[in-house]
Amino acid sequence: MIRLRLITRLVLLSLLPAVLSFVVAAQEQPLRINYRLAMSHPSSHLFEVTIEVEMPQNVQPGSLDFQMAKWSPGRYAVFDFAKNVQEFRARGGICPRVNMTCTLPDFPVTRVDDQTWRVPMMNTHSATISYKVYGNDLSGTFSQLDARHANYNGGSIFMYVVNHKPDPVRLEIDAPKNWRIVNGRMDKPGQREWQFPNWDVMIDTPTEIAPDWTEDVFQVDGKTYHVIVHSFGNEGGKRPALVRDIEKIVRAEVSMWGPPEFDEYTFLLHFTDDGKSGDGMEHLTSTQIIESGALAEAETYQGALDSVSHEFFHVWNVKRLRPIELGPWDFTRPANTRGLWIAEGITNYYGHLMLRRSGIWNDKQLYETLAKQITEVDNAPGSRLMSAEESSLSAPFIDDAPHSQETNLDNTSISYYPKGEILGVVLDLLMRGRTHGKASLDEVMRRMYDEFYLKSPNATYYLRGRGYRNEDFARVTSEVAGMDLGDFFKRYVRDVETPPYEEAFAQVGLRFVREPRSPVTVGITADESEKTNFKIAAVRLNSPAADAGLQEDDVITSFGGTRLNPANLLKTVGRYKPGDRVAVVISRGGKIMRMNLTVGQPLLFNYRIEEMANASVEARALRRAWLSGK
Ligand SMILES: [Zn+2]
Ligand SMILES: [Zn+2]
Repeated sequence: MIRLRLITRLVLLSLLPAVLSFVVAAQEQPLRINYRLAMSHPSSHLFEVTIEVEMPQNVQPGSLDFQMAKWSPGRYAVFDFAKNVQEFRARGGICPRVNMTCTLPDFPVTRVDDQTWRVPMMNTHSATISYKVYGNDLSGTFSQLDARHANYNGGSIFMYVVNHKPDPVRLEIDAPKNWRIVNGRMDKPGQREWQFPNWDVMIDTPTEIAPDWTEDVFQVDGKTYHVIVHSFGNEGGKRPALVRDIEKIVRAEVSMWGPPEFDEYTFLLHFTDDGKSGDGMEHLTSTQIIESGALAEAETYQGALDSVSHEFFHVWNVKRLRPIELGPWDFTRPANTRGLWIAEGITNYYGHLMLRRSGIWNDKQLYETLAKQITEVDNAPGSRLMSAEESSLSAPFIDDAPHSQETNLDNTSISYYPKGEILGVVLDLLMRGRTHGKASLDEVMRRMYDEFYLKSPNATYYLRGRGYRNEDFARVTSEVAGMDLGDFFKRYVRDVETPPYEEAFAQVGLRFVREPRSPVTVGITADESEKTNFKIAAVRLNSPAADAGLQEDDVITSFGGTRLNPANLLKTVGRYKPGDRVAVVISRGGKIMRMNLTVGQPLLFNYRIEEMANASVEARALRRAWLSGK
């Protein structure tokens, strides 16, 4: 589908100069844009980027702005990729292919702002731009070049020409000898050149270049799936099993959604064995998955499948069926959407459910995982303050965002991943129960994909169909359920009420059990780096400790006469009942202070999901349908 559209676009472009005989402003006609990527000194971590631009002859050449994105799709924090750009240079003209090192005149360059370089065209119609980008992070957002490989995510290395993001672009890669190039848009082995319909699709094509990655291939319903693995640690002979399990996940997800739009899809997997790099990122025809362990380790193996299940679900949910704000993007400011609880949270839910439906997990593993997500959300003070929609809008602050300023986000925010996941499971089970199995979230997702992606006219140059608003999702949910579910969205999505867990799980014959973690609450956590003293690391919002005036960095020297340390907190506090008043002595900045604290009711709970022995026949049937997807 994508290749076909590309050809159509190119044919149209070649007709353009003949049709348009009048002179128009530079941004209104597509440029011919050619990217060249080289990496002559891998150990320097410097990617060498060249951009050759050519304007149509009937365009008055003014100046062109080259811009580095402030962030890239899928990770919503602002990273300012421009900070790693060096040696930006512009020259007039383009060297012929037979003499790439020809001498070209230097053009003056003005740095316009933190992300933009302006190049005056000096009355010519072509220019060659070059710069280097430092990249030494293996992730789903950044790029890495070192002696082992090049792995790049285009948003972090390729500038776009301002006002020309929709123009078709060409890319040539010059790789070190014996390094092989692979990405999710390969037409043939050994390929070194690509044509993309626009810059956005080019940066949606992460690429791996190394001498020693492996490739396994499988087919599902006539589509080809490539599993590329680059291991820095021991594989322990696990790769064949991994490929078979990935195939099971693909089958389970395709069986829910129907056939995917592409002909080929590529899983790019890294097992770094460095204990720190870990990420996953969705793309239209590929995914980058980076695990910090070695494939040989059971935990790492499971982690990779968890990532695969999540990222592959994004083929539909977020990459194609997307919130209206997600593409094409303005890369001068962060994306603001209220829909990440759907795009990421519901994907998280299905990522887990599909591990069960594919047969990789048993029922118990799914129940435990869902209970863990509920535990995380329900125990977080931020879930009483921040709704699922607000969490989505806060993504630039909470999606792996760097903070050098102290924040109160631990108390005030909740991640849209677990929050969206629990809203997904509650909505799914309530729909299944209330409609006696006629409706489900599966059907909502399919209906959304059909209406907004497959059947809507293209709203932009970037992608088929159009984006949805949260109100559209609520409407389609009610349509599928055959009843008004507006109240669910009002109370649990736009407001912060606790979702009806017990009621939802009971629909499929499951008991939702909530138990206090300890009989009383104080609301402090210890600084784990201090072994002998109890130094407060954090004070929970609206807790007894907050009411008493305790703050972080206070050292509690006496709690009702007992000297506290990180190890004896629970035991010491456990001697009291809610409502008891306790004399507390602290050391704050070298001063001794005394205060009274009133011990509170339990605030933290553990959650469990278990099967009801006396579940009705209907509830059991609904559970089977939910777990199997049939
Ligand atoms: Zn690699
Ligand atoms: Zn995701």
